[in-house]
Amino acid sequence: MPVALPPALQRLCEALRKLPGVGPRNAERMALALVRSPSGWPESLADSLVAARRVVRPCVSCGFFTEGDSLCAVCRDTARDPAQICVVENATDVIPIERASVYHGLYHCLGGKISPLDGVGPENLNLPRLVERVSAAPGCEVILALGTDVEGETTALYLADLLRGKSRSITRPAQGLPFGGTLEVADALTLGRALTHRTALHPEISVENGGK
Ligand SMILES: [Zn+2]
Repeated sequence: MPVALPPALQRLCEALRKLPGVGPRNAERMALALVRSPSGWPESLADSLVAARRVVRPCVSCGFFTEGDSLCAVCRDTARDPAQICVVENATDVIPIERASVYHGLYHCLGGKISPLDGVGPENLNLPRLVERVSAAPGCEVILALGTDVEGETTALYLADLLRGKSRSITRPAQGLPFGGTLEVADALTLGRALTHRTALHPEISVENGGK
């Protein structure tokens, strides 16, 4: 029979369980650590939580996280290349791309993807601002870094049509085999795309059908 915790502790466990990746046991461990802490860090944690919730907003230009009404750190960075706009579904998608440290352009967060089954249409996405930004920089490259699921594909096709003629080029990240993976574990679709979008080991040798 489970041990009956005081109601306040149970409420704390329930609140912590709403965090991604936190199961009941972990929530219980966290809650107990918080209430047993002799220092003031639980209060400091609560203050940080309330403050972050109050001030963190989407950037008015790209939709990434920023504080208040200011532009985000990416949009403010004058070293970034304004001729590249990488379109992502959600602001959280910017983080892994930044972590890869290979992209130095700007971003545009759509706030979702076209998904008729979920009642999400183009009108629900941050598209007017994207069209405005691309139209203001006609020499730019738009990179559609969207999911490879059906909704991501639908959104990419919609955007390619919407932005046609407004930018210098519209590209997508290459899709292929994961680093360290073997052919045996790759699904047929991934393997097919990897073969279609192959690159040359010796650039002087042309690759048919590659890099379209
Ligand atoms: Zn921004």
